[in-house]
Amino acid sequence: MMNYDVAIVGGGLAGLVASIYAAQAGKKTVVLEQQKQLGGRAITKKKNGAYFDLGGRALYKGEAVEILKELDVTFEGSEPSIDAFGIWKNKLLSLPMDFMSLLTTPLLSFKGKLEVGSLLTKLRKLDTKSFDHRSVRDWVESNLMDSMVRNFVYSLLRTASYVVSPDLQAAGPVLRQLQRSMYGVYYIEKGWGSLIKQLRIKAVQSGVSFILSEKVTEVTHQDKKVKAVHCEDGTLITSENVILTTSPEISCKLVSEADQTSLQAWKDQAIPITAACLSVALRRLPKPKHQFIYGIDQPVLLSNLSRAAYLSDNGDQVVHLIKYQGTQTDTKKDEQDLERVLDLAQPGWRDELVARQYLPKIVVTHDFPHMNREVNPGPNVPEIEGLYVAGDWTTHGELLADAALASAKRAVEHIITKTSQERTPTNGYRVVV
Ligand SMILES: Cc1cc2nc3c(=O)[nH]c(=O)nc-3n(C[C@H](O)[C@H](O)[C@H](O)COP(=O)(O)OP(=O)(O)OC[C@H]3O[C@@H](n4cnc5c(N)ncnc54)[C@H](O)[C@@H]3O)c2cc1C
Repeated sequence: MMNYDVAIVGGGLAGLVASIYAAQAGKKTVVLEQQKQLGGRAITKKKNGAYFDLGGRALYKGEAVEILKELDVTFEGSEPSIDAFGIWKNKLLSLPMDFMSLLTTPLLSFKGKLEVGSLLTKLRKLDTKSFDHRSVRDWVESNLMDSMVRNFVYSLLRTASYVVSPDLQAAGPVLRQLQRSMYGVYYIEKGWGSLIKQLRIKAVQSGVSFILSEKVTEVTHQDKKVKAVHCEDGTLITSENVILTTSPEISCKLVSEADQTSLQAWKDQAIPITAACLSVALRRLPKPKHQFIYGIDQPVLLSNLSRAAYLSDNGDQVVHLIKYQGTQTDTKKDEQDLERVLDLAQPGWRDELVARQYLPKIVVTHDFPHMNREVNPGPNVPEIEGLYVAGDWTTHGELLADAALASAKRAVEHIITKTSQERTPTNGYRVVV
């Protein structure tokens, strides 16, 4: 039996960041990860010299970047150009991404161009907080008049969040993400796996212990206090603080009597977002101008990540395609749809193919800010002292990786605050953690 001040279940972005904060606050910290490597959905796999990310694509200049800076975790990344095309009725049209392209885009009428021009100006200063409790549909329909401008903006908002449910999605958070994207995003050199590597180095330097290939099967509690973490191979770790970075479903399964805690309500309100992802490494791009393409009348995206980041040891171009999935999905059709996008954007791509990866249905985020949400999950599970949740689904308004990192920080801040409140002036630490 081992004892730690903080035990963290899951070694993805949230688990790693939480572990660094906890260890740097002087807590004896362990991360338990069921896979043989760290990273979760932020791993990068190498195929024929090309770096293919499982998850993360664009790192927004939001909470995640601030936290990485605060932790002094460096990453190499570059900002892609904003030139873009849109797919409309199976044709590629240049898009109005700045004032210059606004003048020339064939997508919009004169009236539409004026409306986008005014939107581009207003968006930077928009008080997005006031739209946190209004749906994307409501915001778009009441603020934009031109139907093609609406189609264009729906496409931008989908790209910023991976969500295809404008009636459900809260407008404020995704408008903030869109505002941020106006200041550029980072594509990471050698993929998000290189970020995981840097986080691991920082965690080790901070004194974090890791146990890999260690599946947690139960988190026990007694007298309303968290007690221990049990693993599949019989390993038992006692700890006064446990941070779960697992999905809402798994978190519920791990905690005994979870149905009598907030975990149950958080799980019930969660709406997972999935996507089909096709990644290809091409020796060269048959159409070098077609680097970034939004689907305007279909929920797809194409991005040549190599236009900004080093993603192949052989100089190949690594192109990612995404089909944003709703509740009904047909993964075979999704693959065909994505190949059709490649046929349109890069005709002859099959002759240039060096490597390929298709993920038919991957969870991008286990939940997001939506209208049916009653409460923001975490950081602590109020019914069980010492039990915490972190991860993208425990968002308090952040999206994707920003939510994963921000929630990790929140959980550790709660632990630190709790510990300092347990000090008394006469006896110093009342409870030693
Ligand atoms: C296709 C795709 C594209 C994306 N694009 C972007 C993007 O452009 N920008 C952006 O900001 N974000 C993006 N994301 C989201 C981002 O990748 C995730 O938000 C982030 O990686 C989630 O980190 P996490 O730590 O919350 O969860 P995870 O990475 O899922 O980590 C959870 C960990 O817990 C482990 N675990 C689960 N159960 C157990 C158990 N019982 N015992 C031990 N360990 C366990 C898992 O193995 C996993 O390693 C994308 C995601 C996907 C899938």
